[in-house]
Amino acid sequence: QQFREVHLNRKDELGMLAAGLNRMGIQLSDYIQYQKQFVSNVSHELKTPLAAIKGFSQYLYEGEDEDEELQRIYFHLVNESDRLTRLVNELLMLSRFDKAGQDGIDAEKTDLAQLAAGGAAGLRAKADSKGIELTIRQGPPAFVNVNQVLMSHAIANVLDNAIKYSGPGTRVSIETLVREQEAVVRISDQGIGISADELTRVQERFYRASNAGGAGGTGLGLSICKEIAEKFGGHLDIESQLGAGTTVYIRLPLL
Ligand code: ADP
Repeated sequence: QQFREVHLNRKDELGMLAAGLNRMGIQLSDYIQYQKQFVSNVSHELKTPLAAIKGFSQYLYEGEDEDEELQRIYFHLVNESDRLTRLVNELLMLSRFDKAGQDGIDAEKTDLAQLAAGGAAGLRAKADSKGIELTIRQGPPAFVNVNQVLMSHAIANVLDNAIKYSGPGTRVSIETLVREQEAVVRISDQGIGISADELTRVQERFYRASNAGGAGGTGLGLSICKEIAEKFGGHLDIESQLGAGTTVYIRLPLL
């Protein structure tokens, strides 16, 4: 119910914006294009100073200074510049998508089962360090037409969420299945889950669920994964139960 209301409001706002722009002789599509270009430019501009702030803070943090208060501030600066850098990188990835249609992105015949299992292995250390048991099942070859860098990014991101939103002593699994005309990467966890009314919203840009906590998220990861799946003719589906766990399916058409 809450979700519906929010959407209605947004639609109204967009209608009002379009009407206002029209009076000024500006098309909504041109305005949106302008906004996207603006985000892309600003993101690029932020990269260099952010790297400088991070570098300098790190230097101070690792330095001789023994004042605890200062050390806390330096540490905070390092963390925050990391978080902003992640945000900027994610915004840049989105604006690259906005520019390039499907034609602008290279795709090649890829065994999704192998790609997923290989990528997942890279997150084993992270799962171990949180006391999470990670199970990787490769499954039979499942050939799809994707850009391997982007698809690895999407899979790693979903798996990273599964680990991030789960506690010690739980299990996370990743498996590639072939069913009918589809290859499906299924990533399951026994973590905090997502409430029914927030399930659709978490796929929107910048949305973070109310139980997500403060830790370092941008709310962009899932929307990027969804766009990546859709770029290659696929889908991203989420099933979840609050307090019990989440399963994400990345589905792609088989070659
Ligand atoms: P974030 O950077 O916040 O993790 P994402 O776009 O990756 O952003 O995810 C959006 C939101 O969806 C998260 O903030 C969290 O509320 C929720 N979420 C994503 N994956 C999971 C998961 N495996 N378990 C519980 N909640 C999740």
